[in-house]
Amino acid sequence: MSEKISNPLTKYYNGKFEKQPQEAPAIQGKMQPVPDCGEESYTGSGKLTGRKALVTGGDSGIGRAAAIAYAKEGADVAINYLPFEEEDAQEVKAAIEAAGQKAVLIPGDLRDEDFTRKLVHDAAAALGGLDILVLNAGMQQAVQDIKDLTTEQIKDTFTINIISMYWTVQEALDYLPAGGSILTTTSIQSAEPSAQLLDYAATKGAITSFSKGLAAQLSEKGIRVNTVAPGPIWTPLQICGGQPQSAIPEFGQNELLKRAGQPVELAPVYVFLASDEASYVTGQVYSITGGSFFA
Ligand code: NAD
Ligand code: MG
Repeated sequence: MSEKISNPLTKYYNGKFEKQPQEAPAIQGKMQPVPDCGEESYTGSGKLTGRKALVTGGDSGIGRAAAIAYAKEGADVAINYLPFEEEDAQEVKAAIEAAGQKAVLIPGDLRDEDFTRKLVHDAAAALGGLDILVLNAGMQQAVQDIKDLTTEQIKDTFTINIISMYWTVQEALDYLPAGGSILTTTSIQSAEPSAQLLDYAATKGAITSFSKGLAAQLSEKGIRVNTVAPGPIWTPLQICGGQPQSAIPEFGQNELLKRAGQPVELAPVYVFLASDEASYVTGQVYSITGGSFFA
């Protein structure tokens, strides 16, 4: 029997959100409504059987949705996150194990080069290899006036969002086989930068260019590289300074589909791009925005 068809306007929460400030990094389990990362709503079908994946920022939001979907598709999954986010990470571990797969938790800060390089080797050792690398961790802090943007924030945003990608990829090339897949998370901000996200949007532009160039460099090894460009997705990043609190109630409501996206709505694309079904797909930007066009 075919699944009931659903209306994208009403498939997920489409009301206004309550303002709900948290310090960064925010804890997903404390959000209202709790983002849907596919714990119940994603169904796998063996598309990644036997694969081994490392997902940065895998405790919450988009990375959690990818990690859970990968496990439901038959992959063992290691996630990286900040130590403060342990309670979110434990929920992901439980979801991966409930899908019958191995979960590896590796907390630590991607601003630390030594940690970041070691993360890749620790993940590969614990998983017994590495086929899929999802570079998804990111920080976003809105600042209205460039004069108030501190050097510390600019450096942190660049180090976490893009510089750490060079370190992880350099180490991951020890393991990724032909058929391996690297995914990065860019943003619609790469194409349409907001006035209050001058540091963040610039890193997203860099991620898009990095991903396309890396695809060209790694093609001869049979390693594909693609990037996903989300629009407004209901995740912890947004409530702890990614948006001004005044923007939270109507977050996502100006998109064509008139609501914020849920992380699980990105999971099928992260699965596809990591899988053999995407064997002729590399160097691409996949936008999932609720309607904004990435160009
Ligand atoms: P999220 O807060 O759930 O995930 C971001 C994760 O980044 C955190 O969970 C944290 O573990 C990790 N992180 C942050 N600083 C870190 C550090 N110093 N060391 C290690 N890990 C660190 O939010 P999300 O929205 O799911 O974000 C995932 C990715 O999606 C980010 O790259 C973000 O820029 C991107 N994105 C999000 C949206 C959106 O609307 N939510 C839109 C476009 C792009
Ligand atoms: Mg988190």
